[in-house]
Amino acid sequence: MQSDWSLKELYESFEGEAFKEDVKKIETLIFKLKNWADDHTISYDHAKEKLEEYIELIMELTSLHEKLMAFTSLTLSIDSKNEAANKYDAVIEEKMSELAGTYAKVSTWIGGMKELEEVLPTSQLLREHAFYLREIVREQKHILSEKEEDIIAKMQMNGSSAWSTYKNLLIATHKVSINEGGEKKEMPLTEVLNLAHHKDKETRKKAYRAEIESYKKIEEGVAAALNAIKGEVITVCKMRGYASPLQMTLERSNMDQETLDAMLKAVRESLPIFRKYLRKKAERLGYINGLPFYELFAPIVEKEMHFPYEEGKNFILKNFKSFTSDLSEFAKKAMDSGWIDVFPKHGKSGGAFCYMLHNIGECRIMLNYGNAFSDVITLAHELGHGFHDQCLNGESILNIDSPMPLAETASTFCETIVKKAALEEADEEETLAILEMEIGDYTQLVVDIYSRFLFESEVFKRRENGPLSAEELKGIMLEAQKEAYGDGLDPDYLHPYMWTWKPHYYYADSNFYNFPYTFGLLFAKGLYAMYEKDKANFPKAYEKFLSSTGKKTIQDAAKEVNIDVRSVDFWRSSLKILEKDINKFIAL
Ligand SMILES: [Zn+2]
Repeated sequence: MQSDWSLKELYESFEGEAFKEDVKKIETLIFKLKNWADDHTISYDHAKEKLEEYIELIMELTSLHEKLMAFTSLTLSIDSKNEAANKYDAVIEEKMSELAGTYAKVSTWIGGMKELEEVLPTSQLLREHAFYLREIVREQKHILSEKEEDIIAKMQMNGSSAWSTYKNLLIATHKVSINEGGEKKEMPLTEVLNLAHHKDKETRKKAYRAEIESYKKIEEGVAAALNAIKGEVITVCKMRGYASPLQMTLERSNMDQETLDAMLKAVRESLPIFRKYLRKKAERLGYINGLPFYELFAPIVEKEMHFPYEEGKNFILKNFKSFTSDLSEFAKKAMDSGWIDVFPKHGKSGGAFCYMLHNIGECRIMLNYGNAFSDVITLAHELGHGFHDQCLNGESILNIDSPMPLAETASTFCETIVKKAALEEADEEETLAILEMEIGDYTQLVVDIYSRFLFESEVFKRRENGPLSAEELKGIMLEAQKEAYGDGLDPDYLHPYMWTWKPHYYYADSNFYNFPYTFGLLFAKGLYAMYEKDKANFPKAYEKFLSSTGKKTIQDAAKEVNIDVRSVDFWRSSLKILEKDINKFIAL
């Protein structure tokens, strides 16, 4: 059994001729593109031919860049200290950053092209890239002059980027004082956070208390970082002419406000059912006033299911096959061809991911497989991403980036296939264990994410009038949690500091990095419901949908599978599926 992935399909080594030649080649291409932009963006003569030339150049460059970066970053993910990979990673990125001015120049040129809509239909290449080109035009409206862009980029290095580094430093070195057997012990934050899953109730409570207490040392520093980053976002947003940071996020996600409103309306309507579940869990753990925050991840089922890799693989293959042979054949190819790096090892990074290699029409999946049922789910999840990538293989490399809300569709869909199948074979205790895992995720993705959305909205609103103190931020977080969780959580045991260690609030480039998660879950559940209604015809439409996520707005892509994401009813029907699981869990 092959359990290490193979990267030789990309390059033999960093020392080999092929790799070195490609590094030289990317330099030449960058130089060529710069010169091309200088010479060809002065006028709009021969617009069609020039656009075609540009598309071809940019495709070639993107493809080569993808291949080189894939080799360095995949190497680093299993061997973080690899010197050659670290070196080339930095070298290539630095070379690419030289193109910032060139991109700005070309974007301005395309943005100002009056004849664009006339030219697009006249060429196959341009028709294929119409969405890509129109996106440039749309974004162009928010791009400032070359000089202003340059100043913003440079100031951000010492602004939001620096603040974000500072915040990461505070959190990474943060120690929590915890009492263990009468002795005070200093523990890293990540270890303390993990104790939320501990099977002993007193340990969970002690960890929570110590964690909350510990933030007093760093709260003002973290608040300063949040104020600086959010303040910068507001300023830059205004300069670029966006109505708000939320508007900027929506525009960049190719999603409209109507869709977000419809989803949030359905989410609000569904909150009572989640609260019912939380109260039930509280009752079972012996609480009468709702669940304390520190019990959200408390395990209530003892059962552990063991799935060695071979068994997990076969379980997935069997059940993917019940969906389509396309899906199971893809999974088999990935498993048999050395596309998956399976087990944890020294120097390998944590977690799991799927990396698309459009250039060679393959993908690579990194796992840290550990024989639990959740590892089987992770494998199914990453194979879902891989299958999505396969559906995009026939598309131009400029048409393969999915907006964040759609990026998790195929992965969640594959998870659903496997979980459903597992539930069918499970005894009562296993059923309870699987449902517990599921519903815990639902609660995070629907209720907790909603509280994060409320928090971030309020922070942006108040930050307009000046910086917020740590006290104010805590107050806003508590209000957001009360509104989202209602009487599901014990109001005396909430978590006022959830803004400190969650990384998403500190990404100046991706604000509201929360609702896309809810979107992903509910959209995939809705798709699965459609599949159950029409098992014969759905898979074809589904594959077509997956192949179009990089060249359509979310609203238009969803139409491929007959979903109207602007309709509250669609979201309601997805939430109904979650409700069914919750009721089943409560009944058990
Ligand atoms: Zn994923």
